[in-house]
Amino acid sequence: MSNVTASAAHAAGEFLYANVDFTQLSWLERMWAQWYLSFNDPAIATGLMSFALHEIVYFGRCLPWIIVDAIPYFRRWKLQPNKTPTVAEQWECTKLVLMSHFTIELPQIWLFHPLAESLGMSTWQVPFPDWRTILGQVALFFIFEDAFHYVAHQILHYGPFYKYIHKIHHKYSAPFGLAAEYAHPAEVLILGTGTIGGPLLYCYFTQNLHIFAVYIWITLRLFQAVDAHSGYDFPWSLQHILPFWSGADHHDFHHMAFVNNFSTSFRYLDYIFGTDDKYREYKEKLHKAKQAALANGASKEEQEEIERKLVEEHEKAGLVAESIAESKRLL
Ligand SMILES: [Zn+2]
Ligand SMILES: [Zn+2]
Repeated sequence: MSNVTASAAHAAGEFLYANVDFTQLSWLERMWAQWYLSFNDPAIATGLMSFALHEIVYFGRCLPWIIVDAIPYFRRWKLQPNKTPTVAEQWECTKLVLMSHFTIELPQIWLFHPLAESLGMSTWQVPFPDWRTILGQVALFFIFEDAFHYVAHQILHYGPFYKYIHKIHHKYSAPFGLAAEYAHPAEVLILGTGTIGGPLLYCYFTQNLHIFAVYIWITLRLFQAVDAHSGYDFPWSLQHILPFWSGADHHDFHHMAFVNNFSTSFRYLDYIFGTDDKYREYKEKLHKAKQAALANGASKEEQEEIERKLVEEHEKAGLVAESIAESKRLL
């Protein structure tokens, strides 16, 4: 940084934090202020931090799943055990995701700061709000996004919306972590509205939101999206602790059978509106088949064969449902 720029940044910093007592701040808050002081322009500081956060959290969360996919031991918990992504498939997926991040998402993330500030969101300010406030806000964003996604996702399954937009995301009938953001740019924009729209609306109406709370929300939402596409259902997965949580078990069926399970984080909307009937039927069939196989003393291979047949059956029905959806016209 040149002397002129450094002194301008310092002057801007003095102005930004003139009334802040730094001795009362936590380590994270001091780091936060330091970050904003290193730039002349808070918009650049926010843009860089938002983009880095998205990349680190997304790929950081995908990494354990890439490792899990490479270790055969974990296959016993794979939802579609006969389908493990190849390295070539994962690489192809990564390339498209990276391309979309740098071309489609980067400008949107960059525009977020001016938009957020114009709606009254705090960005560079410290201290952060109370953790209870943040917790309540994040819970609201989860509920809003889930409902938004439930509706928008069903529209994306209709006729030309499916054929020209959402079909890309359905390329993998047995998804894996990296496939969470494998989608058409229009889909990134449409479904991203559910993620960003909640905080923007909340900020507009309450004038009480810090971008730090938005970052916590985005981090958790990325964890949710990557995990939902992981393809694994462990006994310790969140949906076994919180029965209303969707998890991989719920979304994997959507990719496998093409129908049902349109929401993201929670199960209740699909349950209330009956858009999980085929999923529940499948789970029951699978459970009964496994019980019968156990009672008959079937071998592990025979049990796996039963599961494989059930998966194939639903996948075939899914292909029929997909071609019907594609053939529908707008008018
Ligand atoms: Zn879909
Ligand atoms: Zn998906």
